[in-house]
Amino acid sequence: MHDKTLAQLSDDLAARRVSSVELTEHYLQRIDQHDKELNSFITITRESALEQAAAADKRIKAGETSPLTGIPIAHKDIFCTDNVKTTCGSKMLDNFVSPYDATVVARLAEAGAVMLGKTNMDEFAMGSSNETSYYGVVRNPWDKEKVPGGSSGGSAAAVAARIACAATGTDTGGSIRQPAALSGITGFKPTYGRVSRYGMIAFASSLDQAGTLTQTAEDGAILLQAMAGDDERDSTALPDPVPDYGAAMRSPWEKISIGVPENFFDDGLDDASAVAIREGLAIFEKLGATIKDVRLEHIHLSVPVYYVVAPAEASSNLARFDGVRFGHRAEDVDDLTEFYMRTRGEGFGSEVKRRILTGTYVLSAGYFDAYYLQAQKVRQLISDDFERAFSDVDVLVGPTTPTPAFGIGQKMDDPIQMYLNDIYTIGANLAGLPGVSIPCGFSGGLPVGMQLVGKQLNEAELFKAAYYFQQETDWHEQVPAGYE
Ligand code: GLN
Repeated sequence: MHDKTLAQLSDDLAARRVSSVELTEHYLQRIDQHDKELNSFITITRESALEQAAAADKRIKAGETSPLTGIPIAHKDIFCTDNVKTTCGSKMLDNFVSPYDATVVARLAEAGAVMLGKTNMDEFAMGSSNETSYYGVVRNPWDKEKVPGGSSGGSAAAVAARIACAATGTDTGGSIRQPAALSGITGFKPTYGRVSRYGMIAFASSLDQAGTLTQTAEDGAILLQAMAGDDERDSTALPDPVPDYGAAMRSPWEKISIGVPENFFDDGLDDASAVAIREGLAIFEKLGATIKDVRLEHIHLSVPVYYVVAPAEASSNLARFDGVRFGHRAEDVDDLTEFYMRTRGEGFGSEVKRRILTGTYVLSAGYFDAYYLQAQKVRQLISDDFERAFSDVDVLVGPTTPTPAFGIGQKMDDPIQMYLNDIYTIGANLAGLPGVSIPCGFSGGLPVGMQLVGKQLNEAELFKAAYYFQQETDWHEQVPAGYE
């Protein structure tokens, strides 16, 4: 069963070839069997999953099906889940049980999806390797000595190992696309604001966006269809109607023009990955796409800009974790200052502290103009570069990451090396654009991801390009040894 895609399982459920309870039990059993070694889940919601599955089976019997009714999925532990522990990968929230559902969680539940549990992640979504989690590293199912990528590393590993049918994730600088690439699956980050951020624990509010981790683009479209759309609880959610992604994706292929940012193929890119991506471009050409070189003039500044803007916003967002209303609280303190200092000192890990210190510094009087304001100006230049490129082409295609999965522990002592993992993904966040990573080959036995970036709100075009690519290739069907 687990070798099937969400779309295939959805057909099986609707045709009553399998029940949701059977499917859910099967995935729960696979989690029991494999997750001790992978550590991709923080919380497993066995009982409520089986209840939701039974309810889904009733709906199916009554003929009230949606494509997600009865499908077992996992949520990144950054999404608040009513009455279920929501940790964001941090000791700070180890004791936090959310009193409400995030909009993403509520919408998927309404569509009938079954929640298997909450997936592991870098602490407060800060990281590219899932090593900053308070709950320990997640292992990459392709090679358990390697990282699965981050920060949605638990979601990526779970889908890659077929212990969840699909999962949600969030992407602030690459955290859906990068782990999808390193784990050999499809990771979709929509346009900023396409999916509500209500109930999604904030990291950098002007960059954060929820999306999907799935086997195929087709599965991603099914999930996003239910997640996307306006939300009165999030003033930055976009009011634009959500198109029918499935129909758009399957519509006849028209000539699209693809731009290749040549500076993405520089010395920093692993050779075998570059070959795989060029071969992927040849597939698009075969499909009838025209390929052009484009230049994103300021893209090399995206990592430095991000590491000013994101920590600045994080330092403000994380101020709420003070031990007063919820979360970790220091004990045996003498006064209020000590209470705050010890609560935050004990509750946050070192990467989170590094971001708070950086953010506080770049926002402080005297440095604000030199760093934060300057970064905002360069952010605009990066956005303008994308706009210029898109006046000429429909989609940009390039690598998702500089290298395939790296070793556990390999980059933990060198934050700059870690930050450079997102060199190809951050631009889309700074400009608010949709992007997807799809499997396109292997390098040294590890999966390689190809990234497609689209115009503002043009998710449909990205799904379509990825869907047609996956009709022509079988990279997305490869399963790591031991998880078939
Ligand atoms: N790796 C980047 C960071 O550490 C991006 C994380 C993300 O997208 N949440 O901030």
